Amino acid sequence: VAEVPAPVASATPDASGITISNRDRVIFPEGKLTKGQLADYYESIAPIMLPWAGSRPISLVRCPQGRARKCFFQKHDAGSFGDSVRQIAIAEKDGGSEPYLFIDSPAGLLTCVQMGTIEFHGWGARIEDVEKPDRLVFDLDPDESLGFADVVSAAFHLNDMLAQMGLTTFPLVTGGKGVHVIAPLTPGAEWPEVKDFAQRFATALAQAEPDRFTAALSKAKRKGRIFIDYLRNQRGATAVMPYSARSREHAPIAVPITWQELRSLDSAATWHIGDAAEMLKRAQSKSLAQWGRANQMLPEL
Ligand code: ATP
Ligand code: MN
Ligand code: MN
Repeated sequence: VAEVPAPVASATPDASGITISNRDRVIFPEGKLTKGQLADYYESIAPIMLPWAGSRPISLVRCPQGRARKCFFQKHDAGSFGDSVRQIAIAEKDGGSEPYLFIDSPAGLLTCVQMGTIEFHGWGARIEDVEKPDRLVFDLDPDESLGFADVVSAAFHLNDMLAQMGLTTFPLVTGGKGVHVIAPLTPGAEWPEVKDFAQRFATALAQAEPDRFTAALSKAKRKGRIFIDYLRNQRGATAVMPYSARSREHAPIAVPITWQELRSLDSAATWHIGDAAEMLKRAQSKSLAQWGRANQMLPEL
């Protein structure tokens, strides 16, 4: 039997079976990080990223020419992703439905990267029931005048207040400026109820400490304060997914951390796409293995 010669190709498929073209294209010009390095990062962390980011509707930040050029936020397939990036029809408010994207495999993740994706953002509900959120998230957005220490103390304050209502929370550093305080939910309550809870909770915090917090979107009201962005808790809204890279300088990543660790961090952009091995190791640690897991329902407020 004649041996079949391997095809001569400039790019070979990675373990997920996806061929990444233009591996040498520089995506992060500051550090000359390439599309190949980004793809290798995602291939490595797929096993720890997919349990949370997989099987929920996602939006992508695609920057085909690199982060310094035009990027776009994409919610729907433009017809070019193939089969490994899957689709789910979700009803629109005004009738009809739209096909949303989701991934449930390394191949899906890598296909998105092949298509120029840097960031992965996801809904707060899974495809099994998109009307019933499986998490609350409070996205803490500090005014420019504040430091990371202010964000950290705010995050601990939310942790305390939510604990008083019986909710266990987990912090995520975004790779940008802030922290997300995440309370996993056993799906049950629907979006309007979850949004109402989040809005009332954020408003109450801002009313109790108006010098520190605001629940108003306007930048003017944010001066010297932390905006408690509760709007991630409405139907169709997304938040950055754990382990997503960010289209910011030096390719930082969003990282699940413990409350203990948050005490000693001095930035929300501590890790970057070169840290895949460290992420895999961390994820096995006892304290992080349970990150994002809690069997709890939305409390009364
Ligand atoms: P940071 O810590 O720097 O605030 P972040 O991920 O929280 O990082 P935000 O600017 O607070 O960034 O954005 C909150 C969320 O809004 C994002 O995580 C994303 O899911 C969503 N978002 C971002 N850009 C768009 C967009 N163009 N259209 C719709 N939603 C977006
Ligand atoms: Mn934010
Ligand atoms: Mn925000």
